[in-house]
Amino acid sequence: MGLFSRDIGSLDDLFVHTLRDIHYAERRILTALPDMIGKTTDPELQIALRTLFAETEGHVRRIEDVFVLHGAALKTVKCHAIEGIMAEAEVVVGEVAEPEVMDATLAACTQAMAHYKMSRYGTLVAWARRIGRADCAALLQRNLDEEKAADRALTGIAETKLNVRAAE
Ligand code: FE
Repeated sequence: MGLFSRDIGSLDDLFVHTLRDIHYAERRILTALPDMIGKTTDPELQIALRTLFAETEGHVRRIEDVFVLHGAALKTVKCHAIEGIMAEAEVVVGEVAEPEVMDATLAACTQAMAHYKMSRYGTLVAWARRIGRADCAALLQRNLDEEKAADRALTGIAETKLNVRAAE
């Protein structure tokens, strides 16, 4: 599926394309998280990011189950959005001098990734239902629910602790 060819002719095609995109994004996040965990100094944030890593592995497996259910080939589509979010995170992380500020930065960067994924999963669930794939929608909804819960957890840690310490 090239950028300038017109291979997306139906909602079904769009669904599969976006599934490939989020599969790329989830795996890209798995390559970045260990380094991010290594940069945290707050034990609670470290646990949250480790939990997120395990959940992300589960998301990849569920997406792959959706490919099988839908009978679609698991091809790679580069997610330019997650590459952009990652590139920006690397720039900011590289500029941060204080450990307390780093923890607030890492939480914010992780939430930016989660928000991208939430938007994609919300769309994928709606499209799966529309094309008659309630089975796929149910799996994708579980990923969406986990993203939302992780996002809420990070907001909790940031607002009660990380941002407070970063501001001191
Ligand atoms: Fe994308």
